[in-house]
Amino acid sequence: MRITRIALYDVELPYAGGVYHLSGGRTYTSFEASIVRVTCDDGTEGWGESTPFGSTYIAAHPAGTRAAIGLLAPALLGADPRRTERIGDVMDRTLTGHQDARTALDVACWDAFGRSVGLPVCELLGGSTDTALPMMSSLGAGDPEAMRAQVAAYRARGYRAHSVKIGASEAEGGPALDAERIAASLADRQPGEFFLVDANGGLVVESALRMLGLLPPGLDFALEAPCATWSETASLRRRCSCPIVVDELAALDADVAVAAGGAADGINLKISKAGGLTPGRRHRDLCRASGLTITVQDTVGSSLALAAILHLGATVPTRLLRGVLNCEDMVTRRVAALDTVRTDDGIRPGTAPGLGATVDEDVLGEPVAVWGD
Ligand SMILES: [Mg+2]
Repeated sequence: MRITRIALYDVELPYAGGVYHLSGGRTYTSFEASIVRVTCDDGTEGWGESTPFGSTYIAAHPAGTRAAIGLLAPALLGADPRRTERIGDVMDRTLTGHQDARTALDVACWDAFGRSVGLPVCELLGGSTDTALPMMSSLGAGDPEAMRAQVAAYRARGYRAHSVKIGASEAEGGPALDAERIAASLADRQPGEFFLVDANGGLVVESALRMLGLLPPGLDFALEAPCATWSETASLRRRCSCPIVVDELAALDADVAVAAGGAADGINLKISKAGGLTPGRRHRDLCRASGLTITVQDTVGSSLALAAILHLGATVPTRLLRGVLNCEDMVTRRVAALDTVRTDDGIRPGTAPGLGATVDEDVLGEPVAVWGD
């Protein structure tokens, strides 16, 4: 089984909530997805997606994703998509870094692998835990009472985990505003709900300590990406009692090894930050070995990104999994229909082979590039 053709599609994904606000004054209204279609000599196909969160979140941006896929795709022609680690070796030899671009190709290979053997990807990744995965929302930073209402709206739609963004500048209201945002978002917390408070690296240790000192006692949350560097994170972790989850700092294997070695209490495993399901599986196992909690997410994305999240999320031990991001809900355009199963307590991947995705080619339009025959 050999890859004979790779096609790349470019799809705009408008943000469903209007304007998304992150720390540092960053705003986002729309995202650009790179969708990859891999075709093999026996007719098997596989699909993958990579959608950067604009150009100011991590070191990835949509034009860069497409350009890097343009380097990687020709190198994969003739390769066997089922040999996923070897696919990674080829990409290592072709281009340094650019995990975002590698992701679309890696995920497409896993999809093709699953379709070729008639098994869902989660079974190839170790097997599904057969439990409903708690859905996690993603709330941009805003007015505290508006954030409280957003949490309530997600709760009503079955979400049991929430990622609450903070990181107000001093001019915007600083630690006091962030403390209000946290208190308001958690005000109606229900038993069993999980909250991440995510500063996206926007705080320094001093502002983080001030913010934590302003919070009322008894709020149950984990603090995600409070600071931009490992040294600041280590300093804060020595001086605060809340668990620290790393996200932007935990991209590559070596970063996750540092986290698992005692530098954090959990990771936010974003598939396009890791470089796909192949490294994502390694990060899952590093965390498992060290008892770190995991949320499985992606930078953003549509249906194919969600499918990859669910298939990896379904293989994380239940006691360690805190939630899966329903990124499809964050954007207004669906690129595929999924066979996911929704229940009152969460979501799980279906049982169709591969990612379980039926791509809507009308949404994709014509490919922007094709390699192979
Ligand atoms: Mg984060």
